[in-house]
Amino acid sequence: MNSIKVDIQRLQREIDELALITEAEPPVVTRVLFSEADLRGREFVKKLCREAGLALRADAVGNIFARWDGANGKLPPVATGSHIDAIPNAGRYDGVVGVLGAIEAIRALKKAGHRPQRAIELIVFTAEEPTRFGIGCVGSRLLSGVLAPEKAAALQDRDGKSLDEWRQGAGYTGSLESVRLPKDGYAAFVELHIEQGPILERENTAIGIVEKIAAPSTLRMDLTGVGGHAGGTLMPGRRDALLAGAEIALAVERAVTSSGSPDTVGTTGVFRIEPGAVNSVPCRALLEIDVRDTKVATRDAALAQIETAAAEICQRRGVVLQAERVNVDPPAVCDAALVEMVTGVCRQLGVSHKKMTSRAYHDTLFMAQICPCMMIFIPCRGGVSHRPDEFSSPEQIETGVRVLAQTLARAAD
Ligand SMILES: [Zn+2]
Repeated sequence: MNSIKVDIQRLQREIDELALITEAEPPVVTRVLFSEADLRGREFVKKLCREAGLALRADAVGNIFARWDGANGKLPPVATGSHIDAIPNAGRYDGVVGVLGAIEAIRALKKAGHRPQRAIELIVFTAEEPTRFGIGCVGSRLLSGVLAPEKAAALQDRDGKSLDEWRQGAGYTGSLESVRLPKDGYAAFVELHIEQGPILERENTAIGIVEKIAAPSTLRMDLTGVGGHAGGTLMPGRRDALLAGAEIALAVERAVTSSGSPDTVGTTGVFRIEPGAVNSVPCRALLEIDVRDTKVATRDAALAQIETAAAEICQRRGVVLQAERVNVDPPAVCDAALVEMVTGVCRQLGVSHKKMTSRAYHDTLFMAQICPCMMIFIPCRGGVSHRPDEFSSPEQIETGVRVLAQTLARAAD
């Protein structure tokens, strides 16, 4: 199967064309779930799938499936895929390389005359990014049963508009119960993705073979204090929500740096205050805190430490705390046989490779609950992602797609 030829010019053109479908001014890419740009991006991807001769369907939450039938319809298919939604002010490669790259991998296999035994299915997942509903991977969480349908139905955006309203407005009807897929319905799931870290570029390595994905979690803390005039309210009587939040953010840093694991990381990425006026004591603060680790034990210990500290801080400052664990997910261990398979493909193609851990999470984290999984990373310049200057070269993408195509061919045989 060395005759597989990836048409990188065409793929790069398609990546650039999809990048023009954005809510922001190009080259900035913003495609928030079910926005007008997201819907147009979906149409663009579906058009490419149709042209590639793939059969399309979508489920009730808007996950899109594009299938190339195999010779043996009785065997469970092999799946690949990623996402096309993009956070505000993002770039053109995150997720997109795994979607458009998979379409090109399938086209290349077809052109090489390959006929897989198993079907090969591309999945474009709904809402990998947490922008709209504050929780990431909504589509793959529902597919894998990690997110209960009734919890998904209760999701609301900042304006109080529910997931049901959004998905139905986008034309995805049917019950959320129907989204869940059976365990082992796929023989394998392989996701191609940019690294979003600096290691591969620094070590001049073409392919990262992901062995595990760090366990993410999100805390949301809603702090209610008492506002007042910045001049008239004397310091001793104050119940300042921002100051309590600031102490909590520092407690997050303390908890993760003292966890004993170098892999524990914590970020207070959302910190909003009300009323947000220079002459007014903040009466409310909303914090969203992201804590991750490759090990559950140290991650969970850090979470507990943060929650205890937050309760103490708010009590001392007379601020009412409402804390919620938005998600606390397990890490994923990639399938050993698939790791071996991709390693073998890299050797056969003469491509440099190294085994690594993904510190960002991806839809693979949840697909790992229902089938053997694996991720293929390619380098990105400076490790930069979630920014307009995110970049992987055509050569780097081409290598990733070649490795993906060979892996899909082997897994589907
Ligand atoms: Zn991504």
